[in-house]
Amino acid sequence: MEHNIATRCIHGTNERDKNEFYGAVTVPIFQSATFAHPGIGESTGYNYTRESNPTRAELEKVVASLEGAEDCIACSSGMAAIGLALELLEYGAHVICSEDLYGGSVRIFQTIGESRGLHFSYVNTADAAAVESQINKDTRALYIETPSNPTMQITDLAAMKKLADKYQLLLIVDNTFLSPYFQNPIALGADIVVHSGTKFLGGHNDVLAGFICTGRKDLAEKLRYTYKTTGACLSPFDSFLVMRGIKTLAVRLEKQQENALRIAEWLKQQKKVTQVYYAGLPEHPGYEVNKRQARGYGSMISFRTDTEATARAVLERVKLISYAESLGGVESLITYPMLQTHGDVLPEVRERLGITETFLRLSVGIEDVKDLIADLAQALS
Ligand SMILES: *Cc1c(COP(=O)(O)O)cnc(C)c1O
Repeated sequence: MEHNIATRCIHGTNERDKNEFYGAVTVPIFQSATFAHPGIGESTGYNYTRESNPTRAELEKVVASLEGAEDCIACSSGMAAIGLALELLEYGAHVICSEDLYGGSVRIFQTIGESRGLHFSYVNTADAAAVESQINKDTRALYIETPSNPTMQITDLAAMKKLADKYQLLLIVDNTFLSPYFQNPIALGADIVVHSGTKFLGGHNDVLAGFICTGRKDLAEKLRYTYKTTGACLSPFDSFLVMRGIKTLAVRLEKQQENALRIAEWLKQQKKVTQVYYAGLPEHPGYEVNKRQARGYGSMISFRTDTEATARAVLERVKLISYAESLGGVESLITYPMLQTHGDVLPEVRERLGITETFLRLSVGIEDVKDLIADLAQALS
């Protein structure tokens, strides 16, 4: 029987033989680069850690189970996973992407992707007609973030799946912002799901990791082959840390979301805050679509201040909240997307999306919400 997702965070698919690993309740760290062969041409199932490792394999099973994937590969970072996804595309392929993607994704597309002969169009993927109008004879993939980073636009994944079927495109979704706890793109038709495991899955701002998941055997085979060839694998120790993080994914995300909703509502009432972007607010333009396709709205909030001076003062004055890149962990973090995560996005694109000097992004952690609000209040005063 398949268990509920909160249970699968802790026990995975529960296929493990209880006597395996001497009955250890926690999967041990197999800190070994190589595995001896029992005989000529024989294998224990593991040969060399770049290809596979028992600790990492357990983590991969857990994430595959959470995402409802046929296979999931654990990479050394989210960018390594996105790099693997790009390897599925042939020279000359055209990709349509959400217009406000994680800045690192834009960077890899515009540099390594373009130099490999790939072409990218950045479109508001919340508008399916706009996406369809950009499809040409070379288009091979749609690359979606929903909610998007950092303006929290919601893309209708069912509408993207329809286009993917009609034009035979690969549907790739970066599911970092909601994590598999709140959203499962494969069930909605995605071919590939990528994650920065550094964020909600790891959850403690102490490890870098990435995942690439697929529901398709043919793609899994190609990805596994490229993975063992290029070598951006997650170490056994880091696999252990992410697995430990995932055990509390359900409780962390429920608390983070509850805190985020309170903070978003509080921010709306502040006179120095002119706009709040949060998928959990009913007035958010993507609220209904998100509600239909996800089980929650997460804990990422962006907001706009009245002046650049206010935005800078917030970054300089927060005490409990750290002014730092990254997101999704138990600690609340605030960033200045214009200078940090989106520094490599073209200025005219940033301007169009409103990622300006008054725009801040907040990742809400699990601290007491009253303390978080008090910190923001003194920083905004
Ligand atoms: C952080 C992030 C990435 C990159 O992941 P790393 O683990 O930092 O390499 C990709 N996509 C999104 C949405 C992210 O937030």
